[in-house]
Amino acid sequence: LATEESRSTATPMMEQYIEIKANNPGSLLFYRMGDFYELFFQDAVEASRALGITLTKRGQHLGQDIPMCGVPVHAADDYLQKLIVRGFRVAVCEQVEDPAEAKKRGSKSVVKRDVVRLVTPGTITEDKLLSPSETNYLMALARIRSGGEPLLALAWIDISTGVFRLAETTESRLLADILRIDPAELILADTVFHDPELRPVVDTLGRVAVPQPGVLFDSASAEDRISRYYGVKTLDGFGGFSRAEMAAASAAIAYVEKTQFSERPPLGIPERESGASTLFIDPATRTNLELVKTQSGDRNGTLLKALDRTVTGGGARLLAERLMSPLTDPERIAARLDSITALLDQPQLSADLRQALKHVPDMPRALSRLSLGRGGPRDLGAILSGTVAAGDVVRLLKSGNLSEELGLALDSIAGLPEELSQRLTAMLSDELPLLKRDGGFVRAGASVELDEVRALRDQSRRVIAGLQLNYAEETGIKSLKIKYNNVLGYFIEVTAGNAGPMTDSDAARASYIHRQTMANAMRFTTTELADLESKIANAADRALTIELEAFDALSALVVREAEAIKAAAFALSTIDVAVGLASLAEEQGYCRPVVDASTMFAIEGGRHPVVEQALRRQSATVFVANGCDLSPRSGEGDGAIWLLTGPNMGGKSTFLRQNALIAIMAQMGSFVPATSAHIGIVDRLFSRVGASDDLARGRSTFMVEMVETAAILNQATDRSLVILDEIGRGTATFDGLSIAWAAVEHLHEGNRCRGLFATHFHELTVLSEKLGRLSNATMRVKEWDGDVIFLHEVGPGAADRSYGIQVARLAGLPASVVARAREVLAKLEDADRKNPASQLIDDLPLFQVAIRREEKAKAGPSKVEEALKSLNPDDMTPREAMDALYALKKQL
Ligand code: ADP
Repeated sequence: LATEESRSTATPMMEQYIEIKANNPGSLLFYRMGDFYELFFQDAVEASRALGITLTKRGQHLGQDIPMCGVPVHAADDYLQKLIVRGFRVAVCEQVEDPAEAKKRGSKSVVKRDVVRLVTPGTITEDKLLSPSETNYLMALARIRSGGEPLLALAWIDISTGVFRLAETTESRLLADILRIDPAELILADTVFHDPELRPVVDTLGRVAVPQPGVLFDSASAEDRISRYYGVKTLDGFGGFSRAEMAAASAAIAYVEKTQFSERPPLGIPERESGASTLFIDPATRTNLELVKTQSGDRNGTLLKALDRTVTGGGARLLAERLMSPLTDPERIAARLDSITALLDQPQLSADLRQALKHVPDMPRALSRLSLGRGGPRDLGAILSGTVAAGDVVRLLKSGNLSEELGLALDSIAGLPEELSQRLTAMLSDELPLLKRDGGFVRAGASVELDEVRALRDQSRRVIAGLQLNYAEETGIKSLKIKYNNVLGYFIEVTAGNAGPMTDSDAARASYIHRQTMANAMRFTTTELADLESKIANAADRALTIELEAFDALSALVVREAEAIKAAAFALSTIDVAVGLASLAEEQGYCRPVVDASTMFAIEGGRHPVVEQALRRQSATVFVANGCDLSPRSGEGDGAIWLLTGPNMGGKSTFLRQNALIAIMAQMGSFVPATSAHIGIVDRLFSRVGASDDLARGRSTFMVEMVETAAILNQATDRSLVILDEIGRGTATFDGLSIAWAAVEHLHEGNRCRGLFATHFHELTVLSEKLGRLSNATMRVKEWDGDVIFLHEVGPGAADRSYGIQVARLAGLPASVVARAREVLAKLEDADRKNPASQLIDDLPLFQVAIRREEKAKAGPSKVEEALKSLNPDDMTPREAMDALYALKKQL
């Protein structure tokens, strides 16, 4: 588009358009023309399709029609939102001079225009574009190569709230960390984006990952850029950051600057998050467990939805964050649980707090808009109602018995300066307009001058209302009206037939000056009316100027107190989360979990938080509670594994998931759906549940299953919790059984983690004879009249049969097929009885993982190891070292 030829043949306006477009690749260009943003060429084609608006054309370019579409400026936010949701980025180009200026330069001259803002998914601040209960992170990934392993770091910013965090990561946990934080936009250097090693990450993220020029990620200039942003000389006061972290933080800042142009959103000081302090949940597990999104992308039916009883946007966001990043430090978990306990002990306080919190608006987002110069009177209003609600919360908390966490929150809220609410209360009207240019937001009595000009304006309006009566009397036209429109201002209107008295004499024509003739009406003005009108206009202008000055002063005050406001808002969110979780615990009958550094996992009366609530809503069915005990037998050492068998529909998956969810809830600092729970910190949580085809990426169900299983067997530690459902289902029976067999052995002997393993291979249950920490459990069923009844009860032992045929019958398989299947089954079982797979346990020695471990322990060091031990490299000449190496090699 931006070729010389295309420029030289374009109209001056098109020339300008093409130049600006060329400078903003990768974004749709919203080109301001009067009351519209216009889009041209390919942009117009894409936007009209995405927005469902008409595609028209405007003029020609290189002999071809130029496609065009437009959106009205006043509704631009709605259209922006639709485009952002669909993954577009938009460059907003405004007229940056008065059209009159351009005219002075000559009739052909075009109004100067410039891109004033890039709207991208990770950098939006408008309420309309944001969901109140979700964070909106922009994330930068930096990779630094310094010899050995590359160093990776992530920095993420929510510019709508100013949150800024940093973490180092590794290639193997990169995707898990990104998904945990769930950014709206991830920027990374071109070279990293195209690196084949990171291909799976980039592919998984899809449109979220955006390549950027490498200079943004330059670690040499990083410190400079960060210090400049915060206006500090050195970063020493921020705590030590690694080079990779610095590069990521600086890239995120550079991108904010790039998209926000002259504005500087108020970012908090970057806080470091260490990987070890949060529970590692691998990407597949996160999806499988439907923590914040179901597999179909819905919010309903998720754990978050089931737990959320918060009443503020900030509280909802904080709850989601805690759920996405549960803790691994028992003390910090206990601190959160203490708040819930304290609130449960004081139900009146909880109820009152909840009521007060309902009035807390989204202060961080209002603050951010005000700092960016995009705020309106309602943002000031939000800060005001926030401070007022904060006052109520302080009064309530002061009368209560507080946990440490709540006490700290109280201090933060009490730190809000009084001046803020005093000034805002004194200045702001009760009803606030959306836009400051509409005026009317400064309270009567707040400014003497404003009151005067307003009085003048109102008085003139009253005089005009009186004039109508005078004119009607003077002319004898009863239907005479004084009206107002934007073009004429105030005017007198009479029907055409009545206009006689105003036009039939010179005297009348001198006082009633004709302005306009309509089809059936005539319009006039008078000098008196024109005078009053200009008085009103002047007064209105002056009033608006005064109001805008007041707005700027109040904004400046708010921005000056940004730190205190943010701290108070965070504290209010913390309280909201605690009150919400307490009310959930009360309502659902949850218990306080004991979380410590052991390897216990003892749940009594556990339930699935999401299924339980759904059952209660939909039917009278009561969820059957089930215990789960994976604690080490003696109370210490490695935890246990349960091998769970039972028919389809028996409740295996539900049981598996519920235990994983209970662990997550406990470690995020929530009460849990159980009668009692004792959980030793889980460092990593893995699950392989349900078979979801990943056909989009060309993987079969079985392949997906094996990839996920591989990740688990390679990464689970003796502190991890592993949930495996139906491994080996997607392949032939013997393959599947063999893989499941080996996987159980590996978990038990290699990973030594706590785990639940559900399977339809009953043959596996014999393994419990050999594997000391493996127990069998089964979903109980009752048989009745050839049918099965699912009791959903977990009990010790193994299922003796799978009831597949009974389930098939329940599903409505034709009776003839069911009968035939029974015949085939009888034959197969007969054959199996003669040579059962369970015999394997006698024929197969235990898995090598174990044997190697044990042999090593028993046999002591090998010959080579002994020889190696006796060598002392410091005393050897190169020649001797060489000889020793050959000697060692011979011993192998
Ligand atoms: P499986 O994995 O054994 O095929 P699911 O876990 O999918 O079985 O459960 C089958 C059905 O039984 C689900 O619809 C679920 O709502 C119900 N269910 C499972 N566990 C329970 C329970 N403990 N109490 C009540 N209903 C349950």
